[in-house]
Order: sequence, then structure tokens, then C-alpha cells
Amino acid sequence: MRQFKTESKKLLDLMINSIYTNKEIFLRELISNASDAVDKLNFKSLSDESVKLGDEDLAIRVSFDRDARTLTISDNGIGMTADELEKNLGTIAHSGSQEFKTENAESQGDAVDIIGQFGVGFYSAFMVAKHVRVVSRAYGSDEANVWESDGLEGYTIEPGERAEHGTDVILTLRDSEADANGEAGDDYDRFLSEWGLQDLIKRYSNYVRYPIQMLVTKSRQKPKPEDAGEDYKPEYEDYQELETINSMTPIWKKRSSDVEQSDYNEFYKATFHDFEDPARTISFHAEGTLEYDALLFVPGRAPFDLYSKDYEKGLALYSSNVLIMEKCADLLPDYYNFVRGVIDSADVSLNISRETLQHDRQLRAIARRVEKKITSELADMRDNDRETYEKFFENFGRGLKYGIYSSYGMKADELADLLLFWSAKEKKMVTLAEYAKAMPSDQKAIYYAAGDDRERLSKMPVVTGVLSRGYDVLLLTADVDEFTFQSMREYVARDLPKVYEDDAAREVAEKAVADGAEPELEDRHLELKNVASGDLDLATEDEKKDAEEATKENEGLFDAMKEALGDKVEKVAVSARLVSADESPACITTEGMLSLEMEKVLQRGPEGDMEGMPKSQRVLELNAKHPVFAKLVAAQKDGDDEKVKRYAGLLYDQALLVEGILPEDPVAFAASVCSLM
Ligand code: ADP
Ligand code: MG
Repeated sequence: MRQFKTESKKLLDLMINSIYTNKEIFLRELISNASDAVDKLNFKSLSDESVKLGDEDLAIRVSFDRDARTLTISDNGIGMTADELEKNLGTIAHSGSQEFKTENAESQGDAVDIIGQFGVGFYSAFMVAKHVRVVSRAYGSDEANVWESDGLEGYTIEPGERAEHGTDVILTLRDSEADANGEAGDDYDRFLSEWGLQDLIKRYSNYVRYPIQMLVTKSRQKPKPEDAGEDYKPEYEDYQELETINSMTPIWKKRSSDVEQSDYNEFYKATFHDFEDPARTISFHAEGTLEYDALLFVPGRAPFDLYSKDYEKGLALYSSNVLIMEKCADLLPDYYNFVRGVIDSADVSLNISRETLQHDRQLRAIARRVEKKITSELADMRDNDRETYEKFFENFGRGLKYGIYSSYGMKADELADLLLFWSAKEKKMVTLAEYAKAMPSDQKAIYYAAGDDRERLSKMPVVTGVLSRGYDVLLLTADVDEFTFQSMREYVARDLPKVYEDDAAREVAEKAVADGAEPELEDRHLELKNVASGDLDLATEDEKKDAEEATKENEGLFDAMKEALGDKVEKVAVSARLVSADESPACITTEGMLSLEMEKVLQRGPEGDMEGMPKSQRVLELNAKHPVFAKLVAAQKDGDDEKVKRYAGLLYDQALLVEGILPEDPVAFAASVCSLM
């Protein structure tokens, strides 16, 4: 017996003792070897005049014998000589396994995972077989040889028989056993069944270029006997027929103009287990230094587990029609995690491991192109099929916003224009670009309000105040919205009509346009401003003057109210937002980064109850034109400190109520209201 080389032995050891559940990939590995062998012969016949293939079709055949527990994978490819059997099956030569060796040195646990994820070629047969026999006859040779091993110490090579060139790999499968706890253990019997093998071939090797054939049991009606009577019931019999199991030509290799959308839809639904047609099908073929085919789908609805931890993103990765990985995560950014599809590139090695994958420049180049393509297709959908896009955004918009937030705004260039928000003025979803385009020329910022209910937001005094000045307000109702806006800080609106600061310049420009010139355009940086935070700088000169006066005259009142409210508020001040008698008497605004709504969102989160949660800096703004303000001023003048105190508390609580926040002490609040009545 010949001994395996040391590293082969290590690997075999792991194969045999592998606890990896995905043992079924062995079939993919053996079929891919068979396909390579057929490929080599095919290539030889094309490039070498002396090699003449007969009428026989190049094919791969899978068969099994349940009693003998054997599974055979045969090909009529190039075959191997005795020397080649020794060289190819006695050592590990290929890249994937070399890689594996170094990792194996560090930790066995990880290595087991690598076997399952990426396969390590021929030796994977020992995950399911207790004995492997390879009968091979090289093309052009008269003799055959048999390589045999139980995968432990070594192997033998002896002369044997084979009618034609090619190779049979005959596995004697292990017994299906119960595990130590008496539970059903590994089920090897499914590799000895028609349905089990068909399923695996379709799943992993469907697009191998050569036919993968198998005898399949079918049923047919027996011929009706001559003497059949009136009451003859048709009889059936089983028979077997050789069938090609794989579909051979992958749909993603075809030009999209040659494929009906309905075929794409069927492929999508069957492959990705969806009931609905995809919202968008994206197909492209990259040529040049890196060649690959891509077929991507935007689902019509979100899978139920999309926002759970268990959801796995990724595209199926094929190399020369053989599935390498069902979900290659590195091909998709997180915010496009909903995209399903296939990348097929002959330039990606079959035995690539996850570690190499991340550093693989080719793969990164594919990922970049895929991302760009998805972005442009979504933009196209937004512009040309708005209804579908709005539905798409309902399903997946949260991920896009989160993409901006989690990248600290770095991904805003890519994603901001894909977002939709509710416009309080238009009463529909708009993009930021559409918002900017509709702005009056003196508007300097994008205004928004955040809260959980659109209805309530649209009635809030801080919102109606801005609307009444002719500016639209975006109503943000998702938790992530305001965090997204804060990480963006600004939005750059492209190609807006130029605003001229001084009149002379504007007149010159207007005249030029009148003379037939194109109007000048500019990009404008627009700050994203919460209507309930900081200084909106919207007040007119008159309003500012009024506010300043009211502030100066009533310093004592504000001090008293601030004292009554304690550290609930940073300060009490005259409002520049509420400026007429028919508006609310007061509102709560905030200073600094954290808005009231963000504070609420954080409190709802997992650490919401913890001490030291950041709090917003609240300001109680008073409407100096409101009758209640006059009452306050009067109470202060009368020296009625009790009344000032009670009013301060009431105004604060009711302003919070408008924001959807309950008073800290509802009983005291109710008592105050009653005592006033
Ligand atoms: P890889 O396919 O990555 O080279 P494998 O471990 O799968 O690695 O196979 C090792 C080698 O054994 C192959 O490169 C090939 O030379 C040879 N081989 C395996 N199966 C066959 C086959 N069916 N016909 C001819 N050669 C084969
Ligand atoms: Mg291989």
C-alpha cells in the first residue's frame, strides 16, 4: 500500500471525522471533476487533429446500487494513467486545499467549516464514503487502472478493466446511523435514491455544460390486451429511462433580449423560493479583463426575516457553471441585502475560501460594479415606474436609510437620492431632489419634523408655522429617519436655478436669459433642519424686533418660570416660531444634536432605561401674542408666584402632550387643570 502524503492525511482525517452537516457538496465536487475531464478531452479534440471523438456524446452519468450501497459517478472524459492517479489523487495539489493547510494548522474548528463551505475537491468523497474506488482509462491508452482507498492510511493502484476512456468514481457509502443520543444521525441513504440525487444535481450542478444523466423510474400504461373485456381497467408498469437531469444552459448566460420576462420570473421564483414576481430584473454581461455574467432581482416584497439577525444576504457565486457558494455575502453591500441573484465568472477559482474571498480583487471589482448597477436601476425605477418604486421603498427603504446612518453619512452620495419622505405640502412621497426643486428661491434649508404619526405631525404648531411661511416640511415617521438626516447633515441639490445675492447681478442674468441665454444653474448645499430644534432663522425683521422687546420686558417672568421648571428645561424664551394669537400658546423645542423624537427613539431601544441616557436640551417657547402670555405677565406683575409656577408647569406639560409625550406626573397635571377650572 502507498502512503498518503502528510498534508493529504491531515485533510482526509478531517473529512472522515467531519461533523459538518453540508456533506452533500461531495457530489458537486465529483461532478465538477468529471466535467473538467470531459472538458479536457473536448478541448483536445478541438485543438489536436489526431484526436477524433466518435459519435459518442460526452456526458456524465450518475448511478447507484442500493443493496451494495454504491454510488457511481462516471465520465467519458480524458481519464488518468496510473501515474496520474498517483499524482492527482495521492497528493493535494490544488489551491483551495493548500490554503486549507495553513488554516488547519491554527484551528481545527474553523477548518471543518471551510470544508463544508468551499469543498476541497476529490477528498470530500470521504465525508460520505467508507471506501472509494476509481477506475480510469486515459484517452489513447489500452489499459485501465484502479485506485482504491478507505481514506485512512494509504491507497493502492492496480491494473484493471474499462471498456472506454474515462473515469468511474465508485463510492461505498457509510451506513446511516443513529447518533449517540439515539436521534436520527447522518442520512447517507438519500444519496442512494433517485429523488435525493436529482435534487442535489439540480441544486449544485444544474448549469454544468455537459449532460448529467441518470436512470429515472417512470410509469406507463401497459398495452391493452386483445381480449380485454368491457370492464378493462388500464394497468400501469414502472420502467427506467436515461434522463438528463441538469438544464445545462444557464439563463444568466443568455442575452436578456432572448429571454422572456416570464422566464426570468419563473427562474426567480423557483430559485429563490418566492411566490411573487420580482419587482425588477437586472441582467448584464461584463467583458474585458474580468468577464462575468450577472442576473439580479429586486424582490417584490420583503422576506419575512429580512430585518432579523438570521437573514443572510448574498448572491450565488458560480465559476464556469459550477456553484461555489449559495450566498456570497461580499458581493452585496448591507443596504442592498434584499437583492437576490447570480454571478458567474470563469475567472473566480472553484476552491476559493472565505478568507481569500474578502481580499480577492476580482471579487471586489465585481461587487463594486454590482452596487453601481443596482443603484442606477433603482434610480430608473424611481423616475419611470414611480408606483412600483414606492412599493419597493415601503419594503426596503429602511435598509437604505440605515445604510447612510451606519456609514456616518459616507454612503449618502450613493443613497440619498433613493430616499422618499412624506411632504406635508404635497401630501405624497417626494425625493429630496423634488423637495429642493419645489422650494421658493429664498428657502435655505430642508425642513423636517419627526414623530411616529403623520397626522399628528402635520398639526403640530412648529410644523404649521413653517408651512404658513410657504415652506414645505418633510414628515419623518420611521425611527431611523432623523438619525439618517443627522448623519447626512446636508443635502446637495443639483442644478437649481441660480440665486443672485445682489440685484445688479440678477438683472444682468435676467437680461441675458431674455436675450436667449440658458438660465444659470447651481448646486446648493441645503442644511437638514428639524423644525423643532435650534434657531430656524425664519422670523421677519419685525417679528425679531417684537420678540426681542418681549424678552427684555419680561426677563423676570422667564427667570421665575425657569426656576419653577428646574432642570426639565434649559430655558424659557419668547418663540420666534409661534407669532400670532391663533397659534398655540407654547411649544417645546430643543437645542443641540438630540431632538425630542431622537430621545424617544433611544428610550425605546434596548438601553432605554439605563442611567446616563442622553437627554435632549429642552426649551419652553412662549407665544407672546397669545392671550395666555398676557395672563402670565399679569400674574408676575401681581407678585402671584404660585400662579406663575402652576402656569409654567401646565404649559410645559401640555406642550409635551402635543409632542406625544406624557407629563412626568399625570396626576399632578390633571389636578392642576381641575384647580384652574
Ligand atoms: P481540482 O479539481 O481542484 O484540481 P480535485 O481534488 O477535485 O482538485 O481533483 C484532483 C485532480 O484529480 C484533478 O485536478 C484531476 O487532475 C484529477 N481528477 C479527479 N477526478 C477526475 C476525473 N473524473 N477524470 C480525470 N481526472 C480527474
Ligand atoms: Mg475538483
